[in-house]
Amino acid sequence: MQPIPWSSSEFEHNTSSRNSIVYSLIQHLSKIFGDMARINSSSLQSSFFQTPAATMPPAHLYDRRRKQWISDQILDWLLQNKNPDLNTKVLAICNFDAYSGELNFVFGEAHLGGRVAAIYLPRLRQQFYVKKSDTNKLFEQRVVKEAVHELGHAFGLTHCEKSKCVMHFSNSLQDTDYKYHRFCERCNKILKRQVTDK
Ligand SMILES: [Zn+2]
Ligand SMILES: [Zn+2]
Repeated sequence: MQPIPWSSSEFEHNTSSRNSIVYSLIQHLSKIFGDMARINSSSLQSSFFQTPAATMPPAHLYDRRRKQWISDQILDWLLQNKNPDLNTKVLAICNFDAYSGELNFVFGEAHLGGRVAAIYLPRLRQQFYVKKSDTNKLFEQRVVKEAVHELGHAFGLTHCEKSKCVMHFSNSLQDTDYKYHRFCERCNKILKRQVTDK
């Protein structure tokens, strides 16, 4: 797993909030996927030292009219650009908004059973919708849940009907806040099987 942060200037300058999110993400991903996969955070360190321009996807993947990035094209670009080997999943942590197909926005997206996944942070913050901002803790938990969810897709899992399972589809912050950051028993079994079959 190679998390790739892309930062807007606001996020880039707020190093303590950025570091705490990334740190909690690495910890949680290690706990959840640790016995199946190795978390490689060294690429994370190196991308922190790059200029934001160097880590941003190309401008034609941005829809100017909608002011959103085009998520499925971001995934294709990631696959080409990062070209992970067959046993590697790349998770891009994107501090920008994105949509995909018919969905007017996505919290994240992944190639099902593929090598790339992305999560999009702005709509995971309460201040995207209302003036009042929420606690960093709550935001961090949402980031973890969406990251685990998209990596679950990358490991071949589809949506789960159990509303507490991390693989349940989130259409709102309420959905995300309601679910756990873990896989239900059934999803966990499928996940283990997917990993050991490879
Ligand atoms: Zn999903
Ligand atoms: Zn489940």
